[in-house]
Amino acid sequence: MPLKPHHISQFSSILSNPIEYLKGVGPLKGDLLKKELNIFIFNDLLEHFPFRHIDKTEIKKIGDITPASDFIQVAGKIVSCEIIGEKRGRRLVAELRDDTGSLELTWFQGIGWIQKNIQVGQSYLVFGKLSYFMGSPQITHPETELFTPEKSEGKNYLEPVYPTTEKLKVRGLNGRQIGKLVQTLIGLLHEKDIPENIPDDIIKQLPLLPRYEAYLNIHFPANNEMYEKALTRLKFEELFLAQVRLGLIRSNRHRYSKGIVFEQVGELFHTFYKSWLPFELTGAQKRVLKEIRQDTARGFQMNRLLQGDVGSGKTIVALLCMLLAADNGYQSCMMAPTEILAQQHYDNIRELLKDMPVETGLLTGSTKKARRRELLSKVADGSLHILTGTHALIEDQVQFNKLGFAVVDEQHRFGVAQRAKLWEKSEIPPHMLVMTATPIPRTLAMTAYGDLDYSIMDELPPGRIPITTVHRYETVRSQVMDFIKAEILKGRQAYIIFPLIEESEKMNYENLMKGYENVKAYFPEPKYWISMVHGKMNAAQKDANMQRFIQKDTQIMVSTTVIEVGVNVPNATVMVIESAEKFGLSQLHQLRGRVGRGGEKSYCILLTGNKLTADARERLKMMCATNDGFIIAEKDLEIRGPGDIEGTRQSGMLNFKLASIVQDKHLLDLAKQYAENILNDDPELGMAVNLKLKNYLQHQKGQTLWSKIS
Ligand code: ADP
Ligand code: MG
Repeated sequence: MPLKPHHISQFSSILSNPIEYLKGVGPLKGDLLKKELNIFIFNDLLEHFPFRHIDKTEIKKIGDITPASDFIQVAGKIVSCEIIGEKRGRRLVAELRDDTGSLELTWFQGIGWIQKNIQVGQSYLVFGKLSYFMGSPQITHPETELFTPEKSEGKNYLEPVYPTTEKLKVRGLNGRQIGKLVQTLIGLLHEKDIPENIPDDIIKQLPLLPRYEAYLNIHFPANNEMYEKALTRLKFEELFLAQVRLGLIRSNRHRYSKGIVFEQVGELFHTFYKSWLPFELTGAQKRVLKEIRQDTARGFQMNRLLQGDVGSGKTIVALLCMLLAADNGYQSCMMAPTEILAQQHYDNIRELLKDMPVETGLLTGSTKKARRRELLSKVADGSLHILTGTHALIEDQVQFNKLGFAVVDEQHRFGVAQRAKLWEKSEIPPHMLVMTATPIPRTLAMTAYGDLDYSIMDELPPGRIPITTVHRYETVRSQVMDFIKAEILKGRQAYIIFPLIEESEKMNYENLMKGYENVKAYFPEPKYWISMVHGKMNAAQKDANMQRFIQKDTQIMVSTTVIEVGVNVPNATVMVIESAEKFGLSQLHQLRGRVGRGGEKSYCILLTGNKLTADARERLKMMCATNDGFIIAEKDLEIRGPGDIEGTRQSGMLNFKLASIVQDKHLLDLAKQYAENILNDDPELGMAVNLKLKNYLQHQKGQTLWSKIS
């Protein structure tokens, strides 16, 4: 896309030059780099980091290759090169021979181009990842270059290996050729082009490599030690800048965002607390209420993440806050991720408030037109105090008269953008309370939700008997069913959950139906009654089935994971999870949290097939070992990595190129600590010592804008 000159003048640095202007790139390769690797400007190439370095001074003898060799470099003569196979099996195969043996080189793509360029009888230097096919060693899509003995000398540095794609490889941009471009680029750069962005005293204290040196050494390190130093410096920089940005958002909110002031704890709150609260609050609940009470009286907008384990009693905290809002003349809303859960919150709240002068309502996608109209008018004229619902709450037609408090339950299912939409509902943004379904690992909370303030409920209501969790193979399913029968005989109820990860997938649906028939065979009517809930049902069907279970008209609930979040039936004591190996840890923990909610001993039975991966085994072991959601969350992050944790992908705060919040916990802690210190002393970044940082952050904004424009 052509670039407009005024954009260029805005960012004078050489690093914002379009990539096609780099010597050796040009328009064709430039387009490819943009399409394949998102490299648009010089800076993108500078930040295209090698994933490893190879000591390429070493040329291996083919005879010395063992299956343990990984990436290898060999040199020899190409003795044959021909296309074999047909259709999808069509490939170019060359034989490379040195004085100790021979090796097969294979290409599946760009065959014509490669064949034209490879000269049989010539010597080549070949580099690539070794694999074995039918017992003999080969390299697929190797990097090749003509070999002259002089050429391999003088290369006594660690050569970087860059990520590339098959498409790029066959068009003259393999990992090594990209390396040459990076080398060209680095040759053009001076220290002033990569200015320092971390305050000097931090550089000195830690100590860290200066930024310019770090960039040189991450690409072309003098030795391994310099590489490690460069890597540490750049990882710290990523984490530190992210923490500063989040800290700035947080502190700007504290200082500038005008917020509603809840001046008093009034009549409604007091009456409910004294007369209708069905239990004593836990210490953790009281503490969190106090934190919220202080926050909402301060004059800035509260934006708080409430972390609590399954069953720690977050709902009642939210309700008390909403009463506080009503006491101060404000409306509130509570958004839940599913209709079942919204309905349940609504029923629960209505029951608790039945003798109080508080008007409540439920708005979901399936609210009937007439009812919706009535509700919306009450919301608009302010006569409705508490509105519960699903995503339907953030639609434009929902206009509050005076929205003062918004609760987002089970944050995992909502993106940051949806959260923000609730803010826009009134001129002065409402206070926001975001509640998680299960705990989030500490490092993840720091990064993905670092713009929020943070409360923890680390205490369960008293009298809970710990849930016993066991792992059983499907071969003993009948024993498990007998166990359910025994519990039902005692008057209890049971859940049986089937995995239906993609609710639209037909096969999964059929699995569920088969499972249901199977359960029915064990539990025949009229002795037993079964409810079923799944994603293909409409809201009314789901609700009817749910209600029958709540009313104890049915003893068994067969369901998919739609039941996962928040559902509360205290009489249920058995949770059977079919194909438990297919679920992630936090999901298993969420599901398990559906039982153990009453005074009775509860059980969670994880049913699996016989073949289990090592990861699955570890998850099951973890589940059987602990009921603590905070421990499970840490483990989950460790096993799966941050990219896979539900709800965080869209957060945009985890797009670290080098750092990992799993492996670099220590650096993250340091980064947070330093960022906090700086912002405490200098919230505007106005001091001379922080000038480099401030300049960089401002310039960065321009750069991201730039990448989007071009
Ligand atoms: P979660 O934090 O998972 O959303 P809930 O708010 O659904 O948990 O609460 C779980 C159960 O615990 C509910 O039945 C609720 O009434 C009950 N509960 C909450 N707080 C207390 C308390 N302080 N003492 C006893 N029971 C409580
Ligand atoms: Mg809940």
